[in-house]
Amino acid sequence: MAEPTRPPKRRKPDEDREIDYLMCGQCNTPCYIFDMDGSRIVDATCLVCGNDNITLFNVGEEAGSEDA
Ligand SMILES: [Zn+2]
Repeated sequence: MAEPTRPPKRRKPDEDREIDYLMCGQCNTPCYIFDMDGSRIVDATCLVCGNDNITLFNVGEEAGSEDA
């Protein structure tokens, strides 16, 4: 029984995936120009309305996972 102990690689299709876009809270447009640190937004710019206040952006896919 020489089973190698490797970490289980689980692929969660709905969780723990990279974020594709942010929703601009000002004009509700998907924004693709942003930087994330884990699940935290560190930089974002909306090309539509010019909003660059990261507090006004929402993560498009992972709504409800805010851990403050
Ligand atoms: Zn916008």
